[in-house]
Amino acid sequence: MTQPRINLLDFDSEGLTQYIAGLQEKPFRAKQLMRWIHQRGESEISQMSDLAKAFRESLAEKAQIQALPIVSDQRASDGTRKWLLDVGQGNAVEMVYIPEDDRGTLCISSQAGCAVNCKFCSTGRQGFSRNLSLAEIIGQLWLAEHSMRRDPDAVKRIDLDNQSEHEGRIISNVVMMGMGEPLLNYGPVVGAMRLMLDDNAYGLSRRRVTLSTSGVVPMMARLAKDLPVALAVSLHAPNDQLRDELVPLNKKYPLKELMAACVDYLPYAPRDFLTFEYCMLDGVNDTDEHAKQLIALVKSIPCKLNLIPFNPFPDSGLLKSKPERVQTFAKRLLDAGIVTTVRKTRGDDIAAACGQLAGDVKDRTNLRGRMQSIKVGDIGRGL
Ligand code: SAH
Ligand code: SF4
Repeated sequence: MTQPRINLLDFDSEGLTQYIAGLQEKPFRAKQLMRWIHQRGESEISQMSDLAKAFRESLAEKAQIQALPIVSDQRASDGTRKWLLDVGQGNAVEMVYIPEDDRGTLCISSQAGCAVNCKFCSTGRQGFSRNLSLAEIIGQLWLAEHSMRRDPDAVKRIDLDNQSEHEGRIISNVVMMGMGEPLLNYGPVVGAMRLMLDDNAYGLSRRRVTLSTSGVVPMMARLAKDLPVALAVSLHAPNDQLRDELVPLNKKYPLKELMAACVDYLPYAPRDFLTFEYCMLDGVNDTDEHAKQLIALVKSIPCKLNLIPFNPFPDSGLLKSKPERVQTFAKRLLDAGIVTTVRKTRGDDIAAACGQLAGDVKDRTNLRGRMQSIKVGDIGRGL
């Protein structure tokens, strides 16, 4: 029986160097491979023309470059794009691309489902299926970046700091805000983010990669030491009683510990502030009293508060705060000197907004039939 082939997307720089060393090849081969895979989006080892032919042939027998198969690819009227990716056993994850004037942001998933089970989140409602591997996480960026580059009128190109090796780049920012709690899948998430920052891969700066967490306190400290990217913390409630209900992880890591972990992260943060996310739920967490408590909670921490009007989904039993309420709430925070923004909802005609990502494969038995499986060789042709 032949051995299953290794997926080269599963390696960060160190992993690939080790793998290459195990094949008795020189370390610079790892760099060359990284550039072919991540900068040029090449998926055929045989096409990597500056590698010795014999090496290409023997590597192609053992290894491949394979992203998750695409189940569907939808485009919203505002340019937002959502891909549903097959993770096997009837499960799927979603990734979302959001174009703006000066940037292109990709929202990536880290797990199929989520165990945290926040009350207002449809991913949480579906329960936890499994962690994604490093290849499945970085493969989302690889797939989105290189498939859009091949599509001449897909989107605009972003010129980032004149990095010539990334000319024609489409994605300038990545947010770990898709399905799953990234800090509960630490190793693969950090490995994937290392590749996002690696000059031989995507070369993004730490401030252009944001990890959003519901507050896995011990892992926040590890992230500060290992790879301190921009951090967004999902707060959603200004006191423990309410947060226990909305974000059940609060029972394990209550607000006092969470806020202390935020303060400890600050010296490592790529900018001198953190972001707090606050999903606005009608009559639940949006009163003046909540605003007062929230101000007291965050006022000593340099931060930006991002108010997210709740994106409804079926059977949530929750309602979105009224726009006037959101404005009044925001004004109270602003008057207290807290930088506050209200997040624009994007892509809601294709259910691509925060918390609507359910990996919804309605007719699971028909998943294969509906799959427009992307052929490995298709990605990266003609770049
Ligand atoms: N698990 C991580 C990251 C993914 S969720 C976290 O919770 O931070 C990304 C953001 O979307 C979080 O702030 C989350 O609270 C928010 N969110 C989830 N469901 C939502 C919904 N239905 N409406 C608005 N925001 C939601
Ligand atoms: Fe998980 Fe984040 Fe959804 Fe909470 S909001 S259930 S942590 S994905």
